[in-house]
Amino acid sequence: MRNQFASDNYAGICPEAWQAMAEANRGYATSYGDDLWTEKACLKLRELFETACEVFFVFNGTAANSLALASLCKSYHSIVCHEMAHVETDECGAAEFFSNGTKLLLVSGANGKIDLDAVEHTVKKRADIHYPKPRVLSITQSTELGTVYSLDELRSIGETARRHGLHLHMDGSRFANAVASLTASPAEVTWKAGVDVLCFGGTKNGFAVGEAVIFFNRELAREFDYRCKQAGQLASKMRFLAAPWIGSLESGAWLRHAAHANAMAQKLADGLTSIPGVRIMFPPQANAVFLELPPAQIAALHAKGWHFYTFIGSGGARFMCSWETTVEDVEDLVRDVRETAVG
Ligand SMILES: *Cc1c(COP(=O)(O)O)cnc(C)c1O
Repeated sequence: MRNQFASDNYAGICPEAWQAMAEANRGYATSYGDDLWTEKACLKLRELFETACEVFFVFNGTAANSLALASLCKSYHSIVCHEMAHVETDECGAAEFFSNGTKLLLVSGANGKIDLDAVEHTVKKRADIHYPKPRVLSITQSTELGTVYSLDELRSIGETARRHGLHLHMDGSRFANAVASLTASPAEVTWKAGVDVLCFGGTKNGFAVGEAVIFFNRELAREFDYRCKQAGQLASKMRFLAAPWIGSLESGAWLRHAAHANAMAQKLADGLTSIPGVRIMFPPQANAVFLELPPAQIAALHAKGWHFYTFIGSGGARFMCSWETTVEDVEDLVRDVRETAVG
C-alpha cells in the first residue's frame, strides 16, 4: 500500500522501536513485567518526566484511557470532557464500562479544546444527590482536531480542576506531537500544570503496539496493576511493550519522529492553502490537517486511491501525518487535491 494520510496508525514500526524489540528478543526473560526491559523503560520515563511517577504499559489507547479514568472515580461520579473527545466518540463506551457506569459530561469548545467557562458551568450547575458528581476533567493533548493546548491554557485547566476538586486526566495518544509543537518539557506539559495521569501514546508515534499509563499522582495508581490484569491488559511478554520505549527515548526518536510528523502536516497545510474551494478548518499545530472539501472532490480523491476519514471531529476530511510520511507523499496529495479542485 502507498503511504496514506488516513491515520498515523497506518504507518509501520520505526527503526528505533524495531531495534529495541530485536534486542529484547535475545533469549528468555521473566514475564508479566518482572523483567529488566520493563524496569529500564519505567526508569527512562521517570527521567523524561523528571519525577517519580508510577508507570504501566498496556496494549492500546482505549485501554489506557478507560482504565486510567476508572481508577480516578467511582461509578456515581462523572468525567467532564470535550464533546469530541476520543473517550466519548471513539472508545465504544469503554470509560463508562470499566468504571461501572461513570457518566461522561460533555462540554463544547473551539478547535477541539474544552472551554473552561463551560466546564465551570457543568461542574457548578448542580450540587444535589441526583446529579453524577463531577470528579475528573479529561483533556486530549494534542487534541482530536490537531490543535495543541498552550502551557498557559494547561495551567488554567489545572487551576480549574484543582479549584473544583477534579482529578486531571490527559489523553496523550499524540502527546509527543504536542511536546514537539510546544517546545516545552514533558514535565511542564503534564504534572507541573496539574495533570494527575497521562496516557502516553506509543503506537501512533512508531511503535507496533503499546501505550504507557503514567500516574504523577501516585496515590491514584493504587491497585492499578489488578485493574490491568482483570481487563486483559497485563502482557505476559511485557518486555515487548516496554522495549520500544527504551529505544525511542534513548535515541530521542520519540520527539524527532513527532516533530517530523508535525512538519509534514505544516507542509501539507502550506501546500493546500492556495487551492480554490479548499478550506483548512483548524490551526494545524500538530500532525493533522482537517479540510472542508466539496463532496464531489472527496469522492474524486477516494477514486484516486487516497484513504481518509470524514467522520472525525466536525465532519471535515482528516489528513494525518506520521513519522513515516515523506515530502513526496505530501507533494502527491497536494497535487491530487489541486487536480480535483472544483472551486
Ligand atoms: C488513537 C487515539 C487513541 C487510542 O486509540 P486505540 O485505537 O484504542 O489505540 C486515544 N485517543 C486519541 C485522541 C486517539 O486519537
